[in-house]
Amino acid sequence: MYDFVVVGAGPAGSRFARRAAENGYDVVMFEQGEVGKPLACSGHVSTDIWSFVPDDARDHLWQNEIHGARFHTGGPASDSHEFYKDGIVSNVIDRVELDRTLAKAAEDAGAELRESHTVTGLTETRDFVTVDVRGPDGVDQYRGRIVAGCDGPNSRVRQEVGLPDPQELLHGVLGFTDDPDHDDFVDVHLTVPEFFAWRIPRGEAGVEYGLAMAPSEDVTERFESFTAEYGVETDRRCSGLIPIGPPEQTHTGRVFLIGDAAGHNKPFTGGGILYGMTAADIAAQYIDPARPQTLAAYEDAWRDELKQDITLGHLIRGGYSLPEEIQEKGMSLFEGEIGVHMDRPTSLFSREQLRAMLSGLK
Ligand SMILES: Cc1cc2nc3c(=O)[nH]c(=O)nc-3n(C[C@H](O)[C@H](O)[C@H](O)COP(=O)(O)OP(=O)(O)OC[C@H]3O[C@@H](n4cnc5c(N)ncnc54)[C@H](O)[C@@H]3O)c2cc1C
Repeated sequence: MYDFVVVGAGPAGSRFARRAAENGYDVVMFEQGEVGKPLACSGHVSTDIWSFVPDDARDHLWQNEIHGARFHTGGPASDSHEFYKDGIVSNVIDRVELDRTLAKAAEDAGAELRESHTVTGLTETRDFVTVDVRGPDGVDQYRGRIVAGCDGPNSRVRQEVGLPDPQELLHGVLGFTDDPDHDDFVDVHLTVPEFFAWRIPRGEAGVEYGLAMAPSEDVTERFESFTAEYGVETDRRCSGLIPIGPPEQTHTGRVFLIGDAAGHNKPFTGGGILYGMTAADIAAQYIDPARPQTLAAYEDAWRDELKQDITLGHLIRGGYSLPEEIQEKGMSLFEGEIGVHMDRPTSLFSREQLRAMLSGLK
């Protein structure tokens, strides 16, 4: 019997497994494939990322540093509005290496990691959960006092225990070119329905082009015309789902969700690496496997921590659908230096932001 069975070794699962193992619990983590693969993420994160990885990880994760964003209501040839910080806003990192680093940190803390093991079923009883796992040698059953569903946007765990889905799933597509680009601005194009397309300079790793939108729309065609406007042909295409808006409930009697499985994402960018790991830390702090009622405390605590930023994030996203003239006017009003933290839209009301806006009025 494990204290915790963790399903999925992405950032949320590995972070939780590490923290729970450090707390002295027996933890096993099942990953259906190989940690970090396949890639379906930009790895564009705030500088908070460095507090979640070991000190020496920066050398093999870091690709570029970003000071601001150019927002366009049209394509690459259109005028842009620049939003920037005096210091570093964000980093572009190697996402595959991030997952490997986090999984290794979990193992170093004492968690067991089993790759090529797919969780196919769950049965909750009063005292434990039985987990069906298909591995290279066939199907086995494992028991855990508590199961953490960290298995991404299409969470099998969520489906098995009948928890509700996130409010919305977007389809994100990425493609890359190889020429190094050390620019310190990303480009954001408000040219797709209800979301955006982007260009991210990744230093020596080249340039990434991407977009996200509702899956029913013709994503591939839009991606082709977006990159054609830039005059590039991308390779290493990949895609994935992005949950927007957490479901109303993220735990049952002995099962709980973290990360994309729980919709722990920023509604205005889809970014979920840091919200997921923040929720993982909260889970490790609140959940005692001997007292399953502590799952409700986890649910309350992550909502307390993220709710305001997620609510404000929805409002910001609403701006992507405004008529172009209003977007242009709004951005003209606020462009320039900003003091906002990229994961925390509530910092729009911070002293730092006020100072940045007032300095722009001088
Ligand atoms: C195109 C795109 C670009 C993105 N860009 C960014 C970005 O720049 N910054 C950012 O912060 N976020 C970004 N995101 C979102 C980010 O990728 C996710 O929020 C993040 O990966 C969530 O981490 P997670 O651990 O919850 O889930 P995941 O990273 O999806 O990990 C889940 C793991 O569970 C495993 N798994 C699934 N089912 C099972 C099963 N049945 N049994 C065993 N294992 C299973 C999977 O193989 C996977 O390894 C992007 C997403 C997309 C699609």
